[in-house]
Formats: sequence, C-alpha cells, structure tokens
Amino acid sequence: MKLIGPADYRDFACIQGACQHSCCQGWEIDIDDASLRRYRAMKGSLGQRLQASIAAEDGSAHFRLTEDERCPFLNGDGLCDIILTEGEGALCQICADHPRYRHFYTGVTEVGLGLCCEAAARQTLTRQEPLSIVTLEDDGEAAGLTPEENALLTLRAELLALAQDRTKPLALRADRLLARCGLPLPRGAMADWAAFLLTLERLEEAWTARLLALRDQPPGRGLGPRWDIPLEQVLSALLCRHLPGALEDGDIAGRVLLTVQGYRLIAAMFAQAGADGIDTLVDIARQFSAEIEYSEENLGAFLDALDEGGVP
Ligand code: SF4
Repeated sequence: MKLIGPADYRDFACIQGACQHSCCQGWEIDIDDASLRRYRAMKGSLGQRLQASIAAEDGSAHFRLTEDERCPFLNGDGLCDIILTEGEGALCQICADHPRYRHFYTGVTEVGLGLCCEAAARQTLTRQEPLSIVTLEDDGEAAGLTPEENALLTLRAELLALAQDRTKPLALRADRLLARCGLPLPRGAMADWAAFLLTLERLEEAWTARLLALRDQPPGRGLGPRWDIPLEQVLSALLCRHLPGALEDGDIAGRVLLTVQGYRLIAAMFAQAGADGIDTLVDIARQFSAEIEYSEENLGAFLDALDEGGVP
C-alpha cells in the first residue's frame, strides 16, 4: 500500500485554542461505531459526560451540541476535554481526521488537507513552491491502479502542470485548464454567481456579507500578479481534492469546472474586499470550503449549476 499526498502534508498542526473558527463549533460531529463502543464503556467522570452527551438515532450517533452549537467537550480555553483527559488517541475518527481527507485507489491512498480549517488553509495558501503530490509511505507492494484510476491521475497531473505554469498569468492558466477539457467558461458574471449562492443555505454571517458585497458591488478590476501564487495554491488544492470524485460518477467536466469556478469566485471576493492581505484571502478560501465544499447539498447545487452551463 502506498500513501501519497502533498509534500508538506505532515507539517499540518491544529492551532487548538488559537483557532478562531473551530471545527468543534457549528458542525454536527458524528461518532463512528468503534468510538461509540469505547465511549459507552468508559468509566469515571469523562465516561459519564460522554454518555450524557451522545445522541443516537437511526443507527448513527453524534455529540449533542450546546445551545451555542459548540461540542460539549470544547472548553472555555478552546481546548478539547477528551484530549486533555485521555489523550488524542481517545478521539473519535472524524475528530482525529479533520481536516484531512482521503481518496482511495487500488493499492494507493491519497491524503490531503481541507481548506475549511483555517490552519490548513493558511498552510496551503502561503506555500511558495507549487503543490506537489509525493509518496509519503510505501510498503513496497505494487500499487496496481486500474486503467481508469491511472488515466484520471495522469489527467490530473497534466492539469496541475497547466495550473502551475508560472510563465503565464494565473487567469490564463485557469482558461487553459478549461480548454484542455474542451469546456467553456461558466455563464454568468461573478455578481450573478453571488446572487445564486445567496439562495443556498449559509453558515456564517460573514460569508453572507461577502456574497452581498460581490452581488451589489462587484470589483471593477482583477487582481495583480502579486496574488498569483496563493491563488495558484487554491486552484491546485481544489483540483487535487475534487477531480478524483469523477472516478465515482464519471463527471470530469463538472469537477474541472468546480475547480476553476471556485478559484474565480474566491479571487473575485478577494478583489471585492480590496485585496488587503493574505489573512483576508485565507479567510475567503476557508469560508468557500466550509460553505460549499463541506456541504453536500450546496456542493451538489454548485455542480448542478455548472453542469447547466452557469447561472442566468
Ligand atoms: S479548524 Fe483546524 S485549527 Fe481549528 S480547531 Fe479544527 S483542526 Fe484545529
């Protein structure tokens, strides 16, 4: 079995109490079966708290959030009481994994970091070298990728090389990604896309405010070359994350469009906000990820709009 992923994958570290948008707040946290059994058997005061905090229904279990939608184990210092009491090994699978994601191929597992985590987004967007997917672990067994997996990963490597061709302006690189796949630019100005996204479910008021600003006062001009490297990292990260999904549904076109339109939307929001610094760009990328990538419903609606050619 091979493990592949971004060369800097193992540099990621949760910033815990310093995190301003903790993943322990505002999301339902599902508990896997093995952790559920452990939590139900745990003794002592932590065991009692765990057992009182688990809601189980229809064969699945999750932590019952507090009134302000916090995980009941997120303490006032922004730290996890489960880790403090029992160590990281006691976390359920989703908490131990987040913000890491995985793609499974024959004999190969690919890992990556989701942009919805502010620390992962910062690490990704401040990387100066082009994103490279490397072998992180290899037990010597032959990988044995299927022809479909091989073809998709070859295409992704080609698209990644186009996205990372620093001899060309980034907007042109994004156009070349579409051209390579025979795809037109999605229909609709960025203001129209903002109006469309305002029809979807939203989590953060700040995201709504950005969408309203983009809808009502779209930026008059694009961004200068200064922002090409962080936005190239956005384009690369979206490509790596989403293209492998086409192995399940065959929708390569939809995922390339999602990659390019996601990057264009983030760039337009950043331009609208005055391109005032990397912190703003990291925040916009994080919000896009949390609001669209990590919402099955919103991601589906975004892909549907792209499959229809754009928005009116
Ligand atoms: S969002 Fe990222 S940095 Fe924040 S608490 Fe979760 S894993 Fe840690």
